Amino acid sequence: MRQNLVAGNWKMNLTYPEGVALVSEITRLAAEAAAGANAPEIVICPPFPLLHGVGEQLPKASKFHLGAQNCHQKESGAFTGEVSAKVLASVGCEYVILGHSERRQYFGETDELLSQKLKAALAAGLKPIFCVGESLDTREADETFDFIGQQLASGLFHLSNEEFAQVVIAYEPIWAIGTGRTATSAQAQEVHAFIREQIARAYDAQAALDTTILYGGSANAQNARELFSQPDVDGGLIGGASLKAVDFTAIIQSF
Ligand code: PEP
Repeated sequence: MRQNLVAGNWKMNLTYPEGVALVSEITRLAAEAAAGANAPEIVICPPFPLLHGVGEQLPKASKFHLGAQNCHQKESGAFTGEVSAKVLASVGCEYVILGHSERRQYFGETDELLSQKLKAALAAGLKPIFCVGESLDTREADETFDFIGQQLASGLFHLSNEEFAQVVIAYEPIWAIGTGRTATSAQAQEVHAFIREQIARAYDAQAALDTTILYGGSANAQNARELFSQPDVDGGLIGGASLKAVDFTAIIQSF
């Protein structure tokens, strides 16, 4: 179901006490916004060891949800150092980020691997937040649409209609992640509209209308309202600004 959504990707930041302190500050500051009629779904994605403690701070039956930043593609077994989707679900995760450009770039995650991770996440009842996005070279070569079309086709569109209905897509231009260089709202809108067209072709027009599509890449308290006001932008995947309670709360209030 399409909904407004803001997800905070804490990446490899914060110790356990720091994370618990941050989430309790966020839930305190954002309590009123999160209870309002326009409130987005709010997903907090801390590092694995913080999941349980952060989850404990989230008010039950509220707009707040717990998410992870990755999962392994197998359900269990001899994969030292890895974490399965089933384990994530057992500590209260409802979402998992998959295909973040940092995972693709630094950990060699391919569309083939990501398609397996998607299946594993869905089998465990998690909602994947599936990231796509082009590099600066790709954008400057005017190949953004071809590139994103390919990421969607090979990474995502193998899912059944029922599986696809559980997926949130995040458009994250790599050149905007952590750089302070945000896509303009027009640039974000045109890629989001393109993604919706591709969904309509792969599934149907209703699936395209029903999919939640987030923008990510240096979104912050100043530019969120303009980005989120675009017709095909349903919210944001937020990195740096999700580590500051005041900024993240302002983003939550930007609908
Ligand atoms: C991200 O890592 O998903 C992200 C969008 O980071 P930032 O907001 O810091 O650019």
